[in-house]
Amino acid sequence: MTAATKFDPASIDCAPYAKGLFIGGKWLPGSGIPVVNPSDESILAEVPDASVADAMAAVDAADAAAKGWRKTPPRQRGEILRRCFELMTARAEELATLISLENGKALSDARGEVAYAAEFFRWYSEEAVRIAGEFRMAPAGTNRILVDYQPIGIAVLITPWNFPAAMATRKIAPALAAGCTVILKPASETPLTAYALADIYAEAGVPPGVVNVITTTQPGPVTNAMLADPRVRKLSFTGSTPVGRALLAEAAKTVVNCSMELGGNAPFVVFDDADLEAALDGAMVAKMRNAGEACTAANRFIVQSGIHDAFVAGLTKRMAALKMGPGTDAATGVGPMITKKAVDKIEHLVADAVTRGARIELGGSRPTDKGFYYPPTVMTGVSTASEMMHEEIFGPVAPVYRFETDEEAIAMANDTEYGLAAYVFTQDLKRGLSVSGEIEAGMVALNRGLVSDPAAPFGGVKQSGLGREGGVHGILEYMEAKYIATAF
Ligand code: NAP
Repeated sequence: MTAATKFDPASIDCAPYAKGLFIGGKWLPGSGIPVVNPSDESILAEVPDASVADAMAAVDAADAAAKGWRKTPPRQRGEILRRCFELMTARAEELATLISLENGKALSDARGEVAYAAEFFRWYSEEAVRIAGEFRMAPAGTNRILVDYQPIGIAVLITPWNFPAAMATRKIAPALAAGCTVILKPASETPLTAYALADIYAEAGVPPGVVNVITTTQPGPVTNAMLADPRVRKLSFTGSTPVGRALLAEAAKTVVNCSMELGGNAPFVVFDDADLEAALDGAMVAKMRNAGEACTAANRFIVQSGIHDAFVAGLTKRMAALKMGPGTDAATGVGPMITKKAVDKIEHLVADAVTRGARIELGGSRPTDKGFYYPPTVMTGVSTASEMMHEEIFGPVAPVYRFETDEEAIAMANDTEYGLAAYVFTQDLKRGLSVSGEIEAGMVALNRGLVSDPAAPFGGVKQSGLGREGGVHGILEYMEAKYIATAF
């Protein structure tokens, strides 16, 4: 593997990452979407605004490359994916700086994201050669059942701004390992990372047209046109639940296979018998990774009465120690939010909770400086009728709710339309496993603050999504089972 090169954050020029739309292995120059640095509201670069015709050109390119890629031996596909991992790792500092600039997240979070994102290429380089089928006797004993797994076809991939690298590679790596060609539409706020990665795929040997990247100000019409094309057989979307619902309705028109990674409202349940320090360590990761802008972010701290006050004191102390500032500053613990709209929403949710009786222990008011900042905030006495009990805060705000019994905690945890991640802290393993089983979530972190792992199935239940990304499950989202009934 190539050693990671040193990169000077001060020297980054974003214009070279905005070369154009990436279609059929070529860069098609254009403009129309300014990329804003949320730390100071300056413009970093301008990327092209794809039309419906551009999107259809991307579908044509994906189609032209499809046959060759699906017939490329799995070992060769795996080796190309492995090179993507190596090149990403070698350029980790550059990519982390770019993510931090366009998204605002602290460099330490951005570095973590690059490592996580690259790992999908390593994992799926290994999975590409382990796609197994089935061969067995039919129950009647008269013939055999053969099941082969085939690439599903052209995949449209749509990603959000909060993990500009990882949300893309979590889709592209399994799709390519399965033998599919793709069109990626990254979020308009953070397209530079997606375009930087396109350069890496080309350098790694991904053939032209296998990965295409387009940005647009008309995501609805552009996506709808692609979904209406019979050559497109897959939609994998990560983003908000309302947009996910609309896309499911659109995909229904042509019965396109859908994977949906949607919003969350993660409960973080702390029982009296929890190890307090471990719970606080976990809380800081679950709440403050990405400054709270994560679908898995702890959205509701549900804390038992006996440990409540100590937990609040510890959390407030740790949150107060975080320095707010531009993500690229080495000392920054909390970067800016993505947009002014995001800060407005957080401000509204906090005001609503205060109106309903919540007490602010820390933070709670936005600064007036340039940039989209909101400070680390801790709130107690939050009413379960508050809007933030039911909506994603997507920011550095920790509301704490108090409970008495296990049944009450489980009922509160499940009182949401979402079911992505949940966190449980107790030193009683039996209780921990029992509560983990009762909580309606696709993923539970037991005595830890992080669930994401490229080797594990990531995904939600209820209105948090459909399907799983990562692990051995992720590749199957890009494959169809082909059953062949034999006469012998
Ligand atoms: P969003 O508004 O739903 O946007 C996500 C993506 O969808 C963006 O690329 C956006 O493009 C595009 N889009 C918007 N409207 C569309 C339409 N009508 N048709 C097709 N595409 C459309 O979500 P976001 O604000 O970027 O991301 C935050 C949300 O993502 C949160 O709810 C978070 O929980 C969720 N999320 C979930 C996971 C998970 O794994 N479950 C992971 C990360 C984030 P534009 O940028 O051009 O509008």
